[in-house]
Amino acid sequence: MADDLKIWPRLKRLMEYISADPAIREAAVKGDEESVFRLVGKDALSAADLKEAISGILAYQYPNQRKTDMTENRFFDLLCAHDREIINRIKERYDDCTFRDPGMDRFNHSLYARTRVETPLLRSRPFIRYYPVMFELSEGCSVHCFFCALDAGRLQKNFLFTPQNEELFRGVLEVTRELIGDMASSAACYLSTEPLDNPDYEKFLLRFKEIFGYYPQTTTAAAERDPKRMRGFMEQLGKEEMEHHALRFSVRSLQQFRQIMDLYTPEELEDVELLFNHMESDTRFSDSGRVRMLPDHVREKLFLMNYSIVCLAGLCVNFASGTLRWIEPEVPCDEYPLGYRILEETSFQTVEEYRQEAERLLRAYTAPGLDHDRPLFFTKGVSPDFEGNMVILQSAGSVLRVTGNQIFQDSIRLLSEKKHTFRELCGEMGLSTFSSGELKKKLTPLYEKGYIRC
Ligand code: SF4
Repeated sequence: MADDLKIWPRLKRLMEYISADPAIREAAVKGDEESVFRLVGKDALSAADLKEAISGILAYQYPNQRKTDMTENRFFDLLCAHDREIINRIKERYDDCTFRDPGMDRFNHSLYARTRVETPLLRSRPFIRYYPVMFELSEGCSVHCFFCALDAGRLQKNFLFTPQNEELFRGVLEVTRELIGDMASSAACYLSTEPLDNPDYEKFLLRFKEIFGYYPQTTTAAAERDPKRMRGFMEQLGKEEMEHHALRFSVRSLQQFRQIMDLYTPEELEDVELLFNHMESDTRFSDSGRVRMLPDHVREKLFLMNYSIVCLAGLCVNFASGTLRWIEPEVPCDEYPLGYRILEETSFQTVEEYRQEAERLLRAYTAPGLDHDRPLFFTKGVSPDFEGNMVILQSAGSVLRVTGNQIFQDSIRLLSEKKHTFRELCGEMGLSTFSSGELKKKLTPLYEKGYIRC
């Protein structure tokens, strides 16, 4: 165990070099340990460990290409154990958190199901869930990443830590917890913003911790900008929060990756996840926002189609502009190029105004089950088929078979033609109160399983 702790920072760093740098990846795949050792330089594992570590990393990173048995590979074991530990730690923290409102809970469950129906990749990532609220502390962003999935505008303004703003921040967070429940603690303090653009980010985070008990997760694309500030921030977070994945670095280019490797030791980054977004890395990211302007052949090779990176389904609170939006993730497409849709936008200046508006949005968009007056429609990619008394709903890689009478089948046909509210469906088919109730019982599971939405 003590040995593992010593090895971990360097093993993690080696894995990052292999993922991020094509020259090192090529040498690793060829089994050319000498070149890997030379290219990684001072941070490399010992030459004696390198061969086993490389094969453990390759097997872990590229399971489909695994050629050798990994039962005896201690580095492979260490990587898998570390993964499990992180997922468990985060699960433990949020598993007991609940939504105060049953409507919000139900909405969140059906959204989870719906995104799995739309995006096959998410089915293998059950731990990806949706935040019910996000707080932004700037308007716009100064970093201008070429891959910005949210196509953030230029930095306009920061919300500074004045006594008045501190009071507003504290009040809004307290009201949010009251309205949403302790699940609000899973929020982050950025979305279409770079957290470190705000010079007072750390001060606001301290208030967040006072209210929710722990720090929110931070992802920065500007890790190299001010190493002194970054080290101070890591110290503020402390070991326990760092071990709960409180800090991630988004990597914009190979050059920035090398800068980060030079600026921070493996030990300093042992709990920091590096997210590789640069072209030369082995990871692929969402085909949304700014990347949709790249040539098609580049998009198809490097980007994930049908995948939204938006992890918010609920309130997006921007303190710098005083706006409040209700946002839901969508598969990126011409209609929703940023991978989300804004169902409503409003504004607030005081805590009371925020309470009123947030409460109204929650009531409007988190119906507990099928709402009679909101249009119902099929989830993207779902097409219905009929076989005898069976309705078959099919999406990319997932199938649901449901038996049902003529009324149920007719309702599915009507929905496949165009959006209808539940009330319109019943009216068009001339259903009695009893038949409407029966139809609702049949359609509700389709909503809960994410095949139809409203
Ligand atoms: S990805 Fe993040 S840091 Fe980069 S431009 Fe977009 S909002 Fe800013």
